[in-house]
Amino acid sequence: MPVFARIDLAFERGDGAWLVATNGERYLDFGSGIAVTALGHSHPHLVEALTRQAAKLLHVSNLYRIPEGELLADRLCAASFADVVFFANSGAEAVECAIKTARKYHAVSGRPERFRIVTFEGAFHGRTLATLAATGQAKYLDGFGPVVEGFDQVAVGDVDALERVVGPHTAAILIEPIQAEGGVRVVPHHVLKSLRQLCDQHRLLLVFDEVQTSIGRTGEFFAYQRTGVEPDIMAVAKAIGGGFPLGACLATAEAAKGMTPGTHGSTFGGNLMAMAAGNAVLDIVLAPGFLDTVQRTALLLKQRVAELKDRHGDVIAEIRGEGLLIGMRAVGPSAEFVAALRAEKLLTVGAGDNVVRLLPPLIIGEEEIDIAVAMIDRACTRLSQQAAAKQGALG
Ligand SMILES: *Cc1c(COP(=O)(O)O)cnc(C)c1O
Repeated sequence: MPVFARIDLAFERGDGAWLVATNGERYLDFGSGIAVTALGHSHPHLVEALTRQAAKLLHVSNLYRIPEGELLADRLCAASFADVVFFANSGAEAVECAIKTARKYHAVSGRPERFRIVTFEGAFHGRTLATLAATGQAKYLDGFGPVVEGFDQVAVGDVDALERVVGPHTAAILIEPIQAEGGVRVVPHHVLKSLRQLCDQHRLLLVFDEVQTSIGRTGEFFAYQRTGVEPDIMAVAKAIGGGFPLGACLATAEAAKGMTPGTHGSTFGGNLMAMAAGNAVLDIVLAPGFLDTVQRTALLLKQRVAELKDRHGDVIAEIRGEGLLIGMRAVGPSAEFVAALRAEKLLTVGAGDNVVRLLPPLIIGEEEIDIAVAMIDRACTRLSQQAAAKQGALG
């Protein structure tokens, strides 16, 4: 179905942060397939793990034990607040599981009337019917029939609105620590702390959607780990498979106490190939020193991009983000900025709020940063010249 407004460009191979198009042109990939290919392209360890698994066994189903999945779940729990994990195939499914887990928790606690979930303006939680309702944006919901019941949306930081919607029917609060699709809007840590307090006060569950911010993207393994706030349930996807479709819903044993045999499931979720990919990604990202390097790289990139903003204030209005999730709010239309960067052979991704996202693979080094900065610099110069020419033509 023509649901994607695709760019007329195709790639046939990749190496690290570089992609080679079918016409032979090389692009520097600062989009990572929308924050997915965290290890870059053709990472030897990931390729080896997938190749080895493919030769052994692809799929057995969740009728049987999957030791590789037990291992990945144990590693995710050891690296987080969580005690249990459900594996899905995408971000939306991971969030869907989080929603079901939160509702079921109250149902088995004798409070079945508690099913409503508070979400936030500017959110993005996915495209299934329930995650769309959680996202709550008219442009995505329009034409798809009655909106799934049970979501109340407020503005981030609007304490009065939050206190108005939280009531006897509220089950949970669902938030992205950084609204990535919404324009790389970092939720202030004090706001997250106040949400945690509100949840504790009213016996609600706090759910983080870290589909985009997890697996080292912000310089921490999970973005929440620098906020001082722990959720009860968390959705993860995008980078966890390094490019292989994989999502995960993490939870404390208490929050997941209603998720007993038969209550939820998936044919493909936790498939052997996905588990091989997930374990290989964790081998790299959790290796000693890897995230320290990401933090240093991220700081360097952010400084260099901030310099560009100072020099090209007529093109870049603002720099936002954490780690290697960087947003450049554009002065002109962000889509034109993305196109100008692509003309320089730098791939980036648009976001809400007129923002261009820089989402390089976590393995980039100084050389790629130098090249990317030069490309952004040239694109900015060209956009300024075009704006000046247009201004001149207008009179
Ligand atoms: C991408 C994204 C999703 C949806 O993930 P899909 O894999 O496209 O279903 C959900 N939440 C957040 C925060 C995301 O960035």
